Amino acid sequence: MTRMTPLLKRNERFASDYTPVALGLPTAQLLIVTCLDHRVDPALFLGLRLGEAPVIRNAGGRVTPAVIDDIAYIAFLAEQLFGAELATDALFEVAVVHHTQCGTGFLADPGFRHQAAEATGLPEAALAASAVADPHATVRADVERLLSSPLISPKVSVSGHVYDVATGRVAAVLDARNPDRPGA
Ligand SMILES: [Zn+2]
Repeated sequence: MTRMTPLLKRNERFASDYTPVALGLPTAQLLIVTCLDHRVDPALFLGLRLGEAPVIRNAGGRVTPAVIDDIAYIAFLAEQLFGAELATDALFEVAVVHHTQCGTGFLADPGFRHQAAEATGLPEAALAASAVADPHATVRADVERLLSSPLISPKVSVSGHVYDVATGRVAAVLDARNPDRPGA
């Protein structure tokens, strides 16, 4: 017995009329970076279907070195496998989506952060870096972080958005743009 049992029933229903999707470029030409919060599921609030967009989720939806590595690899893979199919010099857009009422917001409080560091053994700096107290501010910072990373292909554009947990609405904060460097 596992708590997965009722969900495995749902999976049976899912698989009963399932159509496999071949490996290819994401058909929405998007990659989503967002929070792991169970109230914040881009498949639901953006209506994503299979094959449309890869999604990277972590605490806060922050652009960490691990996220940058994943995006760099996915861009490399897309170019290697499907570069010839691409009519333009654009691979995909990364949409960074932060949200209101983020649980990482508690980490903006130094006392709470210190306690969390003591209890978990995680470095306080890492905890501070995952905090989303003001999603409009952090999403701007993370879009800049991605655009300024030398690991990100100039063919990848980046945009920023905020999801409001109270209304279910996503608001665009920063339009998509490419890294501003030679070769871009
Ligand atoms: Zn969150």
